[in-house]
Amino acid sequence: MIPYGRQSIDESDVHAVVAALRSDWLTTGPAVEAFEAAVADLAGTARPAVAVTSGTAALHVAYAAAGVRSGVKVITTPFTFAATASTAALLGGRVVFADVEEATGNIDADAVEAELDEDTAVVAGVDYAGVPIDAARLRPLANAAGALLLEDAAHSLGSTLDGRPVGSLADITTFSFFPTKNATTAEGGAVVTDRSDLWERSRSFRNHGLVREPSLQRYPDEGAWHQEVHEFGLNYRLPDVLAALGSSQLLRLQSFKDRRAAIHARYGAAFEGLDGVVLPSAPPRADPMWHLYPLRVPSERRRNIFDALRADGIGVQVNYVPVYWHPVFEDLGYRRGMCPVAEDWYRREISLPMHAGLSDDEVDRVIESVRSALR
Ligand SMILES: *Cc1c(COP(=O)(O)O)cnc(C)c1O
Repeated sequence: MIPYGRQSIDESDVHAVVAALRSDWLTTGPAVEAFEAAVADLAGTARPAVAVTSGTAALHVAYAAAGVRSGVKVITTPFTFAATASTAALLGGRVVFADVEEATGNIDADAVEAELDEDTAVVAGVDYAGVPIDAARLRPLANAAGALLLEDAAHSLGSTLDGRPVGSLADITTFSFFPTKNATTAEGGAVVTDRSDLWERSRSFRNHGLVREPSLQRYPDEGAWHQEVHEFGLNYRLPDVLAALGSSQLLRLQSFKDRRAAIHARYGAAFEGLDGVVLPSAPPRADPMWHLYPLRVPSERRRNIFDALRADGIGVQVNYVPVYWHPVFEDLGYRRGMCPVAEDWYRREISLPMHAGLSDDEVDRVIESVRSALR
């Protein structure tokens, strides 16, 4: 089976992990610090990234830092992995879904504008398939209503919009380093922001809300051992061993991006003009790191085409079922039909294999298989 996504690990990654294992640190140490600097460098933020244990943890941290709590409104996209919405819901946030753009599958600024009000704390978009959200419009829109723009960039580390890297576009941005994403730490994630308040709160939430600095403590004379919890938090610390893998991966991010672009072009050339299919494209302002290759086929044939590809050894996937179709949201009263553009995307979408380790021969096998399934 040719998988739709897969990590690219080489000997330099193996050496980096072994070196971390042989060092004095297994968890929070110099490798985490180096990784946080490397992520910030790519993301275009002056402050180091806040490394955490997953993209889901990064979202949980970012929503907490943004002040999401009971009753606070969060506007987000239904066309994403459940974690984008469920982390806000876990904090008590009132999740409202705004529909997506037909062209990109990204949250639609007009739909956001229609839902924005003074109860809204966060507008959270997802860079679907690697194409950045329209942050240039969404951020001022959200900020004018007193809300923050959160960019779930699980797909888009390495992408740019108007020449600016993803990570520097929104008020706060989250990454995932799961094996299928653009670079991996096995499990891992990161939060980046240039706002000092969001950065401090993110660092605090990742580490139990602990305060070790005596000048900030309520009871500083307790003793040298003393630390205090000022706000609830969790242990979302990324280990040094995994951060070492991450830094090693990031050294090859540009080559991963180039390979993904070449695969995107090879699919594009092969499928151009095929009847009934819509190919993924990005606006000219965007230079995406293609995380997925979302092909849209006629909805009434999607199931058959998908099954034929799987039977032919092509590990296709569907990204994504609209979040509010999940029973957990259905049971809260969310109903199908709410976001028709996202639902149409879902009904037609098939993710073809897209990862840096795919050979041209494998891409050609996928192309042949798609052609025959479409006949
Ligand atoms: C993968 C993903 C996440 C979650 O990241 P994990 O590292 O798997 O927890 C969140 N949002 C989107 C859009 C994703 O693709």
